[in-house]
Amino acid sequence: MPDQNKIDRLNAELDRRRDDLIALTQDLIRIPTLNPPGENYRLICEYLRDRLAPRYFQCELIRAHDTPGDSEKYPRWNVVARREGARAGECVHFNSHTDVVELGEDWTRDPFGGELDGDRIYGRGACDMKGGLAASIIAAEAFVDTFPDFAGAVEISGTADEETGGFGGVAYLAEKGFFAPTRVQHVIIPEPLGLDCICLGHRGVWWAEIETKGRIAHGSMPFLGDCAVRHMGAVLNEMETALYPALAQKRTEMPVIPKGARQSTLNINSFHGGQDEPEPDFTGLPSAMVPHSARMVIDRRFLIEENIEDVQKEITDLLEKVKSERDGFSYGIREIQRVIPTMTAKDAPVVTSVASAIQNVLGKPAEYVISPGSYDQKHIDRIGQLKNCIAYGPGILELAHQPDEYVEVSAMIDSAKIMGQSLIDLLVD
Ligand SMILES: [Zn+2]
Repeated sequence: MPDQNKIDRLNAELDRRRDDLIALTQDLIRIPTLNPPGENYRLICEYLRDRLAPRYFQCELIRAHDTPGDSEKYPRWNVVARREGARAGECVHFNSHTDVVELGEDWTRDPFGGELDGDRIYGRGACDMKGGLAASIIAAEAFVDTFPDFAGAVEISGTADEETGGFGGVAYLAEKGFFAPTRVQHVIIPEPLGLDCICLGHRGVWWAEIETKGRIAHGSMPFLGDCAVRHMGAVLNEMETALYPALAQKRTEMPVIPKGARQSTLNINSFHGGQDEPEPDFTGLPSAMVPHSARMVIDRRFLIEENIEDVQKEITDLLEKVKSERDGFSYGIREIQRVIPTMTAKDAPVVTSVASAIQNVLGKPAEYVISPGSYDQKHIDRIGQLKNCIAYGPGILELAHQPDEYVEVSAMIDSAKIMGQSLIDLLVD
């Protein structure tokens, strides 16, 4: 652990910057960066540049041309700010996504007002994750001002599109080398996972579309056709009787939260068979048809103990089994998305430095968790090939994407102290 004297100096500096932190968080919430469609990315990147450039951060604005969703109307802008230290050393990078999800209903506060009420700042993105972005900025600024002779570099990025897969954000930057291990050695993503929780990674994801095929015919003579929905029913039956019980047996050593996600899971995301749903203003009846196609999108979440080939084979084996048992059964399968599970080692320096800071600031040991779903760490891991990455930040995970989302000022201050102490540990002592 770093010298307590240095920690105390930084903590006092962070306490002094409380009003600045509040104003910064409010400013970020007041820039409505709804995604989809991906609004105001340029504006928020310029705001971050205008704040950090006068503090000797070298700022680059990078547009992710031709990534999903990028257009002249909704360009995917990202900002990377880098402050060099006084001597050679390692680089600690704080990455936050700037996009927020749609509002939904039932708000009682102005979603883009940044209203301060007691210890809470309200607004869309307050928790996920403009509060975390603001806390990391304050931590980095207080750190570089207090220890200007630090080694290495501190980076802050604000990136697009995390809520829609991160292809115009972290994935693009990783492809351009921004997360290359030669440039960045440690990454902290201040997502809202709980003040005493270090998130080491996430489970894997495999999305696929299964189609069963039939033959169209008049609905009064179904024996002349072949019903694709009944074929899919046989697939569902096999899932219910064999696959779901098997998945429930696959437990993981990964500390996934919530605990219900400490096993392999399968969600049926959508199901379509036969005629399309009519338009809402259509008042007629459906026609009499035997469905010639049924489609189902599955969302399989898998564990670090599994590999993706086995996950795929489990589904094709199931389909082949149904095929061997049913006359006329034929199917197609198409992968939609894959994400490999990742888990940073507990003895990685970024983990041990944040863990000792949590103990020091909060007076309790860090809890290690794994996210049930994936986030931008997947791109840093796979494209960037950088393993020293965690998610750690203020905010209550359950509030993410909810109406009346808020972040607590006290939690932002505490997390800034923890991030700041980690900086001292990695770049000063
Ligand atoms: Zn988020």
